Amino acid sequence: MSQHDFTSLSLKSGLCDNLSSLGYRQMTPVQAQALPRILAGVDLIAQAKTGSGKTVAFGLGLLEKLNVKQFRVQSLVLCPTRELADQVARELRKLARGVHNVKILTLCGGMPFGPQIGSLEHGAHIIVGTPGRVEEHLRKGYLKLDALTMLVLDEADRMLEMGFQATLDAIVEKMPKARQTLLFSATYPDEIRAIAKRVMQQPEVLQLKEQHSKSTISQHFFRVKDNAERPEAVARLLLEHRPDSTVVFCNTRRDTEELASALREYQLNVIALHGELDQRARDQALVCFANKSVSVLVATDVAARGLDIAELDMVINYHIARDAEVHTHRIGRTGRAGAKGMACSLFGDREMQKIERLKDYGGIDIVAAELPNKVVLNAPSYQPPMSCLQLDSGKKQKIRPGDILGALTREDGIDGSEVGKIHIFDNFAYVAVRRRAADQALRTLSAGKLKGRSVRARKIR
Ligand code: ADP
Ligand code: MG
Repeated sequence: MSQHDFTSLSLKSGLCDNLSSLGYRQMTPVQAQALPRILAGVDLIAQAKTGSGKTVAFGLGLLEKLNVKQFRVQSLVLCPTRELADQVARELRKLARGVHNVKILTLCGGMPFGPQIGSLEHGAHIIVGTPGRVEEHLRKGYLKLDALTMLVLDEADRMLEMGFQATLDAIVEKMPKARQTLLFSATYPDEIRAIAKRVMQQPEVLQLKEQHSKSTISQHFFRVKDNAERPEAVARLLLEHRPDSTVVFCNTRRDTEELASALREYQLNVIALHGELDQRARDQALVCFANKSVSVLVATDVAARGLDIAELDMVINYHIARDAEVHTHRIGRTGRAGAKGMACSLFGDREMQKIERLKDYGGIDIVAAELPNKVVLNAPSYQPPMSCLQLDSGKKQKIRPGDILGALTREDGIDGSEVGKIHIFDNFAYVAVRRRAADQALRTLSAGKLKGRSVRARKIR
């Protein structure tokens, strides 16, 4: 018997036998590391990449813990979208085949509310759902969680990204403190640490690093003859590599504006961010960049300070930064969390001193590379993966992410997988959707209602 056999876990025999009939023999790495701790009852944060088998890890944990004779809700699994919740429920039902009479119920937005009340009246052991709808059932008293012993937050990074933080807090408030909480995530940003602090008790953290890709930033330096060459150099880099998210750092505000308009000439999708923008324009710029409906952000260091984007594909230095520390900080924004990042810096004769200082500071060798061939300038430009829709309702109208997600994924709407980040402000909200789904999303929104009233939605730019 190998250490990674499920039989090493001493699960209920029904569960164990069923696993082999499903063809699951060896545990995946995240299962091998997480399951012993889950079964021991600790709170656990597990970060592992998509497809690593996280569902089976918590699924076996909650089924092992379940007392089937007690017909009350004992486990709650929260997922960011209906599709993911359905997937998880399907996998749980497969796993539960070995245990008699386990009742699993899904509670998701975008589905009729009434029938869910009926199902809740019939009772369930395990609820799988999306935060908005679960919170609504809790608030209206149809769902009771007094007997809950296990809470699972699946794809927690996605849930926070979609703005479900407050909803999660409201749900957690209505469940017993003495419970086990498991949190699964593909990435481990600071927001996860923050929510873990609030909803978990001394969680153990399990991070499964991807085998090969260390956080690697590949640095490239390109020599330009004079300032007039710089905008074209940036365009060549962008059109060659076609990254979804790039920040171009400029030393002055004037450069940001000039460069942004030069890049628009190449049909690139770009926004300039500098200190003089009013709050609303600034918010909108950051939202559109974060939700991937704008691919290039041109910014000064000060303006970029509040920027917190986990996955920058590329950083470009329009000029070399004033000092080496700033340079390191700029390029450190790419290549986070195991993702591969690319940093490109332009320099001219007058910046040789700064280049020398960079060499000393970073202990790196700097050789000028060739810019991509001019012919890329004739290639068709590229579009960001998402479109951003703005809705004329927000926090003041009590709109929450689940409402927007629900409205978009109604029966004749779009798929949950096509919905990206949701940002809600006082009087309006933004939601990103896949470009190809944008028109359908607009039709769905204008035909439907949000919180009982019709909404106006428009595509930004
Ligand atoms: P994650 O949530 O980590 O993205 P999933 O839980 O969706 O990954 O699992 C990915 C796939 O791997 C599923 O199709 C699941 O049935 C399969 N799987 C999970 N555990 C095992 C295992 N121990 N052996 C074989 N297949 C497994
Ligand atoms: Mg999963």
